[in-house]
Amino acid sequence: MTNRNEQWKHEKDGLEILKELPALAEKAFKEIDPGDIERLKWAGIYAQRPRDGHFLVRVKLPSGQLTAAQAKVLADLAAAYGKGEIQITIRQAVQIHNITLRDAVDILPRLKAADLSSVEACGDVPRTILGNPLAGVDAEELLDTRPLVEEVFRFFLGNRDFSNLPRKFKISISANPHDAGFARINDLAFVPARREGEAGFVAYVGGGLSAEPHLAVRLPFFIRPAEVKAVAEAVATLFRDEGYREKRNHCRLKYLVADLGAERIAEKIEAQTGALLRGGEEVTAPWNYGRFYGTHAQKQPGLCYVGVHVKNGHIRAEDLRAFAELAERFGQGRLRTTNSQNLILLDIPEGETEALLQDAIFEAYPTEPGFFTGYASSCTGNAYCNFAPIETKNRLHELTAALDEAFPEVGQPLRINLTGCFHACAQPQVADIGLTGGRARVGEAVVPVYTVMIGGHLSEGAAFAQPLEGRVADDKLFGLLEALVQKYLALREAGEPFYATVARTGLELWQSVANQYTIA
Ligand code: SF4
Repeated sequence: MTNRNEQWKHEKDGLEILKELPALAEKAFKEIDPGDIERLKWAGIYAQRPRDGHFLVRVKLPSGQLTAAQAKVLADLAAAYGKGEIQITIRQAVQIHNITLRDAVDILPRLKAADLSSVEACGDVPRTILGNPLAGVDAEELLDTRPLVEEVFRFFLGNRDFSNLPRKFKISISANPHDAGFARINDLAFVPARREGEAGFVAYVGGGLSAEPHLAVRLPFFIRPAEVKAVAEAVATLFRDEGYREKRNHCRLKYLVADLGAERIAEKIEAQTGALLRGGEEVTAPWNYGRFYGTHAQKQPGLCYVGVHVKNGHIRAEDLRAFAELAERFGQGRLRTTNSQNLILLDIPEGETEALLQDAIFEAYPTEPGFFTGYASSCTGNAYCNFAPIETKNRLHELTAALDEAFPEVGQPLRINLTGCFHACAQPQVADIGLTGGRARVGEAVVPVYTVMIGGHLSEGAAFAQPLEGRVADDKLFGLLEALVQKYLALREAGEPFYATVARTGLELWQSVANQYTIA
């Protein structure tokens, strides 16, 4: 066998763990076989930091769909087992931390009873499907993607044909023109397109971030809605059968796509699906960074959605319950999560939005957050993650709140993403300013230090952020961010986002700003 993970998967299918969970829950953490700890991911259960027998459970919410009744179940579970905390993730899933395996034995059936699932939320499997959080209510969507998301989700869920992939497999399906599904950084993404007036999709394959980021490449097809599942199945099959399984850090689909190229991948897909149409013109509009803040009209006349900022994606159980109750009282009991780790309330009658927004909960969860705080992203950091050398969430909020205070004139989003390590869970490569944490000796002390990259985006001409040389110690970080923002404000042209100013002016100039703050 090629690596330890492959050996574990070969010994026993990850999905077997679902049956074995009650027996495992009776064991002391140290007695549990490392292969079983790994296989628990197939149940959506992940060992958290410190590795002392506490876990997180991740619940899939395809395309961010969540009913008020389900939100209440999640709130109840978090209150009972997870210290009253819920985390919204960058794939629109939710996590409850601090659970034990005995708790998981109670939690999983309660999720199932609420038509929720944690199955294959982690592991080398098709993960939760990212999508347009406005699907079905979006005045701009080319078509309602909910039935497609549901079809693909149900097809892969617990499907033993795809429960041993070389690595995780991330699908995005969105017909929102503002790239709500972050297409270019998924393994397989469907984006809205037209061909001779017909509505459908074009697909991208082979995107992903981590230490070696790749932008997904476009396939030559125009894909009809009825063909989406077949294309997803074909790509997953290709990944399963031909994907690399040797070095763990070289197994994602992006490496196979990079080696074979889009045309060869397309041939292999068509060998399974039969001939697909060619062409199609993408339906695009400026990237909205996955943010849906404020009150906006739905496609249903007289109804609005209200996008809410959830600081750090972190919501208290009682607050999720309160939002669920608001969604029932003012709307039709529907909420959505976003990949920017925020919430949306749907179906609020136009005449009742003001009354809704009078609720005290919006003081802590604003609908019009600052252009720094509302557009920042951080990974879990050392609160729960075993890889993390630093704390991320509170530090980033502290920094961005101070920037909101210092630069009220910024007038448009400036996205700062802080990630705890090279795994890049907070997606620094697509941020205006991306920070990756570490620790280093500075003088007498070992302190948090950061590498900095700038100018990333997924708008037209998508590009990854470019690294600046040197690292910045924590006590100089705010000074550096302040200096970068000042430079941007001095140089930007009307309406120009930070990433575009960087692209227009060149990296050298920004390096000279950073040099005053960095260490080797
Ligand atoms: Fe953990 Fe690193 Fe991911 Fe942050 S980026 S959550 S530290 S693995």
